[in-house]
Amino acid sequence: MVSDSAGRNAMSERPANTPKDAAAIILLRQDTNPENPEVFWVKRSDKLAFLAGFHAFPGGQIDASDAEADVRNAPNPETAVMISGAARELFEELGVLAVRGAETLTKGQRVSLLDDLESGRMSWPALLQHYELYLDADDFTYVGRWVTPPFNARRFDTWFFLVKCPPKQEPNVIAGELESGEWLPAREAYDRWMHDQVVAVPPTLHALRTLGAGIAPDLVERFLSIPEAHGQPERRITFRPNYICFPVRTPTRPPATHTCCYIVHNSKEMLVFDPGSPYEDEQQALAECIDEMMGEGRRVREIILTHLHPDHVGGVNALKEHLGGNVPVAAHAQTAEALNDVHVDRLIEDNDVITLEGEPVVRLRALHTPGHALGHLCFHDEERGVLMTGDNIVGVGSVLIDPPEGNMRDYLNSLERMLALPRLAVLLGGHGPAVATPYRKISEYITHRIEREQNILTAVRSGASTPREIVARVYTDVSPKAHAMAERAVLAHLEKLREDGAI
Ligand SMILES: [Zn+2]
Repeated sequence: MVSDSAGRNAMSERPANTPKDAAAIILLRQDTNPENPEVFWVKRSDKLAFLAGFHAFPGGQIDASDAEADVRNAPNPETAVMISGAARELFEELGVLAVRGAETLTKGQRVSLLDDLESGRMSWPALLQHYELYLDADDFTYVGRWVTPPFNARRFDTWFFLVKCPPKQEPNVIAGELESGEWLPAREAYDRWMHDQVVAVPPTLHALRTLGAGIAPDLVERFLSIPEAHGQPERRITFRPNYICFPVRTPTRPPATHTCCYIVHNSKEMLVFDPGSPYEDEQQALAECIDEMMGEGRRVREIILTHLHPDHVGGVNALKEHLGGNVPVAAHAQTAEALNDVHVDRLIEDNDVITLEGEPVVRLRALHTPGHALGHLCFHDEERGVLMTGDNIVGVGSVLIDPPEGNMRDYLNSLERMLALPRLAVLLGGHGPAVATPYRKISEYITHRIEREQNILTAVRSGASTPREIVARVYTDVSPKAHAMAERAVLAHLEKLREDGAI
């Protein structure tokens, strides 16, 4: 806290999505079975801005004051800060105090300490000092450092530590950031992800797989055996089994910087959705991933387009060429008609079902869901609770409805249709990470558009007569840079209001 203004300047010079320091704890049960150890995993609250509804481990962003805590035996100051932050998050989220000296505290005393911390009466370092507690780095086994891939606007550089739950303490989810939590054997947790519609990020899955293979002398080595555990952002992201999200850099609309290409696969076949990058290095990276999956005995059945926008089709021809030219491209007729540079070989109609040959069964139903684009398609895998939403719902940024291609009435109808689908567990959108709160997110989108429409109607009735004037009155929450875009959206709303007979 040396100089607030200096701090702010330093922040604004960094690119918006520079990863922030964070730490997380993989909590192991005392005296757990080393063959299949029990871990404590949590379900993150639906209301969080980052990974809402995901299953994960407790953790969070490092505080400036974490550096002042008494950490002994740390190999270096950086590790000490991360251990301090991880331990604080563990205490705040689960009430578990993994510090030396805590064994003499009663449960009631721990609760009162937590209250001191939460109420801001004492900082974490001051609290440790006041009660003569300290952190011992030997209690925290470093098992990797994962960086959120750049397709997310919010990014973290997260250090993971394996910690044994201190004797006589029981984790207890404290309302707020977490919805629930439980002990379970690592293998069972991984199984739940495989079969029960749980959504998780790669470091969580890697930890469960690694622990599921048992605690042995090579445990840490196995944790650290992949480049992603050393801060290299994951390229293939598997939020749900059989779905690989492969974000590719594209000239898309900020704050998005990438388009999510999806590879839906089973033992024998793959479908590639929206290979959107026009950049050679990104096309190459995607091609390598697909080659590798082909090397495991699969064939690419089709390249499928959710819609016609350049950031979704920019790499189609390159991929087709890479695959020898004989992989068909499939899309809706209205997409096929409008595309000049990409040839569509097969048309997909509303309610068409695509079933992959091989194991397990993967079955996708196409939904014609216009609004963002005329020929826009979503794909629903009812068995896995997956809805591929294209650009109708995105994990980062907002959806532009730009007439005449865009149509607000169609868009709202499409959102209502998506909302009515049964058993949704996750939305895989055209940009940003998966959304693990599907119904909540779709409802938010609908409410947001209806509120905008109401405000636009009010503005019109009180005399605003051009899109520019309406934007100035209604889009007060949007940066002036985005006003040109907002005018397009206003046009779409006006068109709908006119059709509705409201103006
Ligand atoms: Zn689009």
